[in-house]
Amino acid sequence: MTVFACARCQQRLSSDLREVAMPPLVTEESPGSKFLPPLMPIGSYAVSTETGVLVLHPDDVMRMTRYPDRGRLNGCCGLDGLDGPNLACGNCGAEVATQQSDCWSQQLIALIPDAVTEMVSPA
Ligand SMILES: [Zn+2]
Ligand SMILES: [Zn+2]
Repeated sequence: MTVFACARCQQRLSSDLREVAMPPLVTEESPGSKFLPPLMPIGSYAVSTETGVLVLHPDDVMRMTRYPDRGRLNGCCGLDGLDGPNLACGNCGAEVATQQSDCWSQQLIALIPDAVTEMVSPA
């Protein structure tokens, strides 16, 4: 199991996660919802073969705050994540991740590989 921490201050930023293959994209909304489902099952992460980012379920991150620059917080129903990292380490303020929570993309958080370090958890 793996825990991700801020590379700058070592603050823990994720739950205990298991690496899995990237799930296929889903393009249909969940019944009764205008949002697409989360890409990742809770408790797992996948490495993007295109960009190298670490993709997580939105509920698997902790101690992050929204990046203060509103120019990065665009989107119609949530955050579209297209303007750069929009989540910062809640301890030191380093840019660590991009959240996508808008209606037209699957719900996910993408950790920036260079901004986090991987800690192997004892469990
Ligand atoms: Zn929308
Ligand atoms: Zn930090």
